Amino acid sequence: MTADLSTNEFVMLTESADEGTRSALRQAGQPLHQYGRASIFDAPQPLAEEIAPAEAPMSDMPPEGEASTEQLGLAAFARRRSDEFRMEKENRSHAALSWSGEDNGEGPSPIHPVDGPEFLAEGEQPAPAASLSGRLKGRIAVGVVIVEGTASALRFSNSEQIKVLAEVQNGLSYLAAQAPRKDVTFVHQIKALRVDVPDTTSGSTYEDFERPWRDPALAQLGFGPGLSGCRAYAASLKTALATDWAYVAFFTKYTLRHFAYASLGGPRLVMHYLNDGWGVDNIDRVFAHETGHIFNAPDEYGSSGCNCGGSWGHFGRPNSNCANCAPGGGSKCIMRSNDWAMCSETPYHLGYSGLP
Ligand SMILES: [Zn+2]
Repeated sequence: MTADLSTNEFVMLTESADEGTRSALRQAGQPLHQYGRASIFDAPQPLAEEIAPAEAPMSDMPPEGEASTEQLGLAAFARRRSDEFRMEKENRSHAALSWSGEDNGEGPSPIHPVDGPEFLAEGEQPAPAASLSGRLKGRIAVGVVIVEGTASALRFSNSEQIKVLAEVQNGLSYLAAQAPRKDVTFVHQIKALRVDVPDTTSGSTYEDFERPWRDPALAQLGFGPGLSGCRAYAASLKTALATDWAYVAFFTKYTLRHFAYASLGGPRLVMHYLNDGWGVDNIDRVFAHETGHIFNAPDEYGSSGCNCGGSWGHFGRPNSNCANCAPGGGSKCIMRSNDWAMCSETPYHLGYSGLP
């Protein structure tokens, strides 16, 4: 097990593999993650001692200045393997509750309000698969951008940054490990930026709250403003990291219109560090859920207003596990509730290869 997943993850720096390790790598297939030269694989069986995961070289972490994606990815992996992280997962709050929120007597708050950017009006069909996030297959670039402000309440400690990255890694390990052919690799680029703008305390739209910190962050990365800037950043990641697909994930402590949301079909998702009432220890599952939207998977919890029809994701399948109409309210699923679970339809929505 790695953290609370059924994976047997180990990390290798590509040039350091000895013969025993290379043999294990051949069995393990495509890695779940890549961070610079470091790849995280899922071994088919629990690991033998001699290929036990390497410890992150924390001594290489610069005390000040920008740590590399590789250093941060290794630090996140070390955090996931810690007893502390395992306990956080064992004790995660609101486990197995619907994402519907407290109005339904379930989780603490809806994972998205019904007016979220990913929400589609009744009868509206999702956009055709976007060229940057068509399906969960192959190599997928994920640009994780942690945006902090200058005020102390808007800053991230090093430990909080690593927590975010460990949660992202855990959520994406789950999605990659569900691929029947083990042919999904998330290729990370990590940026931690500080922007010199005050918090937004009033506004009405998602954009009112997101634009003030997002556009300066995009400018620091060398891109223009708005969703077109996000799309340009994702496109550049796809080229630079030689991937099939790409998306951008922002984390911040700035006040947001809502704590987690995504553009259906990409190019970006946004999450608040505190993750609302769900809490930081559920960032992994919320992140996996939002990534589902990036790849055109629909919501399945009741308060989303879902129905069992439509044509969703790479295979154009209906949303037949929607809680509002599925027999018995449907089955556990990452798009429906706070579980590591897949219903029968979500794998098709996500576009895995090798499905029956
Ligand atoms: Zn959702």
